[in-house]
Amino acid sequence: MNNRFPANEIQKVKDLLSTPQLIVITTHYRPDGDAMGSSLALFNYLKMKGHGVIVVTPSEYPEFLEWLPGNSSVINYGKSKEAATKAVSFATVIFCLDFNWMNRIEDLEEPVRASKAVKVLIDHHLEPENAFDHSFSYTDACSTCELIYQFIVALGDRKVIDKNIAECIYTGIMTDTNSFRYSTMKSDTHRIIAELMEAGADNAKIHENVYDTYLENRLRLLGYSLKDKLVVLNEFNTAYISLTDEELERYHFKTGDTEGVVNYALSIKGIKLAAFFSEREGEIKISFRSKGDFSVKDLSSKHFSGGGHKNASGGKSGASMDATIEKFVKLLPEYKSQLSN
Ligand code: 5GP
Ligand code: MN
Repeated sequence: MNNRFPANEIQKVKDLLSTPQLIVITTHYRPDGDAMGSSLALFNYLKMKGHGVIVVTPSEYPEFLEWLPGNSSVINYGKSKEAATKAVSFATVIFCLDFNWMNRIEDLEEPVRASKAVKVLIDHHLEPENAFDHSFSYTDACSTCELIYQFIVALGDRKVIDKNIAECIYTGIMTDTNSFRYSTMKSDTHRIIAELMEAGADNAKIHENVYDTYLENRLRLLGYSLKDKLVVLNEFNTAYISLTDEELERYHFKTGDTEGVVNYALSIKGIKLAAFFSEREGEIKISFRSKGDFSVKDLSSKHFSGGGHKNASGGKSGASMDATIEKFVKLLPEYKSQLSN
């Protein structure tokens, strides 16, 4: 299996980690399975190697990720600003995982930029910012978790990957590939999955923990979204769903409850572009997904201050829900030829 990490760059990181360090691992705002899986895999690994390690997230994350090994020691900046800022200011090394631009860590951007720690980026998003001492950016990787696996192997520690590390890595590969189905999932990645299972990852348990732990309200919110809020624009092979603050509150929304809703819009035969709009704290957060060659990364970076990958991206809008949807719908004629074949 080809390891993406170049030996000369890895040697520098190896030298850096040859003495105990105070390490902070951070990841993008509203972390998903890959963000938390990669952060906690690296956390468990670096702890085992004798470092002082803290994971600092810019915000809260879904409850269905709280079973991940090491979760109890995560500091959420949104809740514990002082502890999070202190950890960042004391750090000698900061690992930045699963994001490409410093503004993706929101309020943590300033303390992280100000820190004198050695900054290491490990990520798979397009067009990374040049703000890191060591940048391991591989946009062909299916997930940051796949890269964490290769990083540990490149450091010569394949045998150190135990059940805890394996389950964290498995989770991120699973969630970022929509359960191993995206074209980003290569045969090499399946081989990594096999190794993770051999290291003790319990695949059935992981799938259950992430996908089969809905509370009733979450399923009813999904039902409402599909029955009353799904809009299909056949002319543009586009479908979208939107949920306002009021609608989310009606179903006692918790972080993570709308994860995956956008995929239902994309699951309609012939649909090439799907969008999901949700209102949170006065801002509209948008998830885009596409099938085939249509780049939702370009759409979101050009029009919705966002980014991501070709077939999965996100963005935001400060306008109202109605105005945001209107803007989106009015853009579609511009993309009609790309969306209709
Ligand atoms: P999701 O729709 O699941 O939130 O995000 C899909 C992908 O787009 C993820 O890789 C995520 O990191 C990226 N993404 C989501 N929101 C934003 C955003 O506001 N800015 C950028 N640059 N990327 C985003
Ligand atoms: Mn990712």
